[in-house]
Amino acid sequence: MDIDTLLASLQNSEAREIIHIKKETGHPPNFSCSIESLNLHSHLVTALKKIGIKNLYNFQERAIKAILKGKNVGILVGTGSGKTEAFLIPILEYALTHPNQTVALLMYPTKALAQDQMDRLEALTRDLKVEFERYDGDTSQEKREQILTNPPAILITNPDMLNFHLFDDRLKDIISTVKFIVLDEIHQYVGVFGAHVHYVLNRVKRFLKDKRKCQFIAASATIGNPRKFLETFFGAKFSIITSSYSWGGNRLHIMIRPKHSLYSEAIYLVEGLKEKDPSVKSLIFTDSHLSAELVKKVADARNLTIGIHRGGLISSYRKEMENDFKSGRLTTLVATPTLELGIDIGDVNNIILIKIPATFSTYLQRIGRSGRKGQDSTAFLLIGDDPISNFYANSPQKFYQSKPEPLYIDPTNPEIIRSQFIAMAVDQPISPLELMNINPQEQAIAQQLLEENYLAHWDQLYLVPTKKGKDLFRTVSLRGTGEVVQILEEKNKLGDRALPMAIRELYPNAIYMHGGIDYQVISLDLEQCNAQVTKILERTNFYTRALYQSDVMNFKPTESRHIYGLDVFHGEGAIHTNVHGFLKINFFTGELIDKEKLDIAIDYQFPTKVLYFKTILNPSWTLIEKAGATHAVEHVLISAAVTLTGADAAEIGGISYPDGSIFIYDGIYGGSGITDLLQDRIDETFRRALKILKLCKCNRDDGCPRCTYSPYCGNNNESLSKELAIQSLSQILAGKKVMADFKPLGAPLV
Ligand SMILES: [Zn+2]
Ligand SMILES: [Zn+2]
Repeated sequence: MDIDTLLASLQNSEAREIIHIKKETGHPPNFSCSIESLNLHSHLVTALKKIGIKNLYNFQERAIKAILKGKNVGILVGTGSGKTEAFLIPILEYALTHPNQTVALLMYPTKALAQDQMDRLEALTRDLKVEFERYDGDTSQEKREQILTNPPAILITNPDMLNFHLFDDRLKDIISTVKFIVLDEIHQYVGVFGAHVHYVLNRVKRFLKDKRKCQFIAASATIGNPRKFLETFFGAKFSIITSSYSWGGNRLHIMIRPKHSLYSEAIYLVEGLKEKDPSVKSLIFTDSHLSAELVKKVADARNLTIGIHRGGLISSYRKEMENDFKSGRLTTLVATPTLELGIDIGDVNNIILIKIPATFSTYLQRIGRSGRKGQDSTAFLLIGDDPISNFYANSPQKFYQSKPEPLYIDPTNPEIIRSQFIAMAVDQPISPLELMNINPQEQAIAQQLLEENYLAHWDQLYLVPTKKGKDLFRTVSLRGTGEVVQILEEKNKLGDRALPMAIRELYPNAIYMHGGIDYQVISLDLEQCNAQVTKILERTNFYTRALYQSDVMNFKPTESRHIYGLDVFHGEGAIHTNVHGFLKINFFTGELIDKEKLDIAIDYQFPTKVLYFKTILNPSWTLIEKAGATHAVEHVLISAAVTLTGADAAEIGGISYPDGSIFIYDGIYGGSGITDLLQDRIDETFRRALKILKLCKCNRDDGCPRCTYSPYCGNNNESLSKELAIQSLSQILAGKKVMADFKPLGAPLV
């Protein structure tokens, strides 16, 4: 079926509404210079020509020249454009003129990407005397020894590996001569992971012979705030290289609102596409493990063979899926963000996105998996019944004209500083001079760590880790802060989930879906950090959603911003959550089947960053009306925040009190930086929140899934008032004054 026939049949169907169609014409740029014109080493020029690189694009030329001049360079251009060559060419040039030492560290956020890079370097260096090696969790012990005694010119590794092995003197020696530190896919280094890696880089810098000569290079698709982000992340000045061309072929963007479930729609689309051409390849993207499992379930029920690729499944299984898809044995794959990154999975014709991704950058990243060789492709965006979908359904152009969002990290997360400071002492004792040069927050933390016996004095002035400190160092992961719950079927580990998210997913009797199999949680032990699950033999038709209550403890504001008539505060606090029950929801229809109580409620408290303000309430409203208005404002603000900050809705929490107090918090242990970014954009967030409410034509007092509801509401979306929330937000925008008193009153809603 050609695309026009498919479109006609889609448009004629009553089962869906085609919201918007956008045709995009691919326009790769012309070359700007020949390889010869750069005066590179003759061997390099020959090697490049041999693999077909004779000319360069303008952005490549600019990037190469800037790197050769000694600048730190951020290369931010679309997928498939040749940005890897833009940084590898100057690195190879340097390696050829500086033999017998390690000149570059290339870091990849995943092992799969590191392997892809190996393949590319293999082709580039075939006729050059430049050695490269991969040094990560998949490298055998024997190979590691070999690398450490006989280091290559280019070392491909990841931040996790450096984090755990920097204490090795041989690795320090290798690092000492490094001229280039490259972080590819830099947009992955956000939130907690980004903040950790920021410190890992600081630790690496300690071992450079000449810090001033080392250059940083970052690459990714376009991001919203490249200079600010890169300069915070690396702590150095950057030259930013961008390009406005798009390298894919022609692309059709179709926004669809199905009248049945999004999961079924994805499968119907695949069936329709395969009717004419059974070999057509489609990739379905979803955001959560649960929805990936649900898509697979619908496909199984309709006898359509599809593969599943998501985090939490073992890597050999995922590799098998990648290979089957690449070779064409498998033509449809449902994936979570695990497949978003540059892993080579061959040609893809169609991308189907279930729900609007949290960021427009993610949209671009995902659709960039198709049309990589310049062939035509189609991007289907399936939107649902939620406030964000409804907002864009009313102004689809706004979605397709979006700009990539800014990235965020929070290097002041005290949990991260604590563990990284201990790690720094493990790498090498911290000297008195180093202690003098750290900021006051870090100095206070160093003092605390001494008092808590994680660090000790050595030779009076140096700081070294104690046994307790070393033990902690071994258990800290860069990918999260706080603890991780192991998911066990008897003694067999199925997967894991970080706290605090785990308490809302792994309470007793919750359904946990894994690789197409349903499990039921038997117990959750927060002391041992594990959840026992058991296989359910018959198929379930429902999933579970937690009912919970949260409260803010010890809020300490550190920053305030006056906006309209209110003060919006940001600071530290702790969130106490109590999971007391759950809902059973039919995953085909979305209907509520049952509501159950937990025998023993689960309590959990974690420190994080919190945003606080008081919304405007009319004194004549009843307590119930006040609670409904505040709760609805809180929900809709989070929806608006997701579209403006690019945060994952699951990682922002909100608590509202009937006196108008609203707290929005980072749902990550210690904080991720998201509410900090939200404070910067709070005025736009208020405006967008009001728009979301006004756009919805539901005419219901409490609103509906398209305006006031939240899928993460712990109160089952009860006690919401759409009309009063509109009044409250309108008053804010009109500049009415309200005093914050830091004393929230009444029972909180979440
Ligand atoms: Zn509504
Ligand atoms: Zn709620």
